[in-house]
Amino acid sequence: MNNIILFGPPGSGKGTQAEKLAEHFGLLHISTGDMFRYELKNETPLGITAKGYMDEGKLVPDEVTIAMLRERVKNAGEVNGIIFDGFPRTEAQAEALDEMLEEADSPVKGLLLLDVADDEIVKRILLRGKTSGRADDLDESIIRNRIAVFNEQTAPVYNYYHEKGKAHKVDGIGSIDDIFGRLQTLVERF
Ligand code: AMP
Repeated sequence: MNNIILFGPPGSGKGTQAEKLAEHFGLLHISTGDMFRYELKNETPLGITAKGYMDEGKLVPDEVTIAMLRERVKNAGEVNGIIFDGFPRTEAQAEALDEMLEEADSPVKGLLLLDVADDEIVKRILLRGKTSGRADDLDESIIRNRIAVFNEQTAPVYNYYHEKGKAHKVDGIGSIDDIFGRLQTLVERF
């Protein structure tokens, strides 16, 4: 199984590229952000819990996020592999994911980091906010908070996989197709 983590700060293009990779390689795309937004739209207890954190640009607590992801992976059925988008975002999540996938005998093949500078990210998210309908895309201070959370809590996940020889950095600047080409080349080598 080809399990891949698409990694990067908010607004680095993970969602767009994950969808393209999923289609090209026949993988299941799992986005924890999309899952939380779905719960929120349906006003489930999980969605209501997540909302407070999402609105402030903070991470939903690990135990909540890991439990949700575990269920999703358990119910994935027969797939060629999974592309994880927006998960793991903490070292505890990475450890939980590795444990889950090792139990299924299909470890993470690689983590791909979309590398984009902070100022470019703020510009992109503000632009996306005009059409995304996402409250957390509209306010520059929330966006800056999401970037700070990424740098403080999520960036260590890169080192976690780097130490295992599984982390790859990809230039996240350029056209969607150019960036997709860079990612595709790496995935083909896994
Ligand atoms: P995203 O769509 O990936 O930018 O996620 C939107 C928001 O959902 C984040 O700012 C967090 O509040 C929450 N979220 C998504 N994925 C995770 C995760 N793996 N861990 C904790 N919170 C998450």
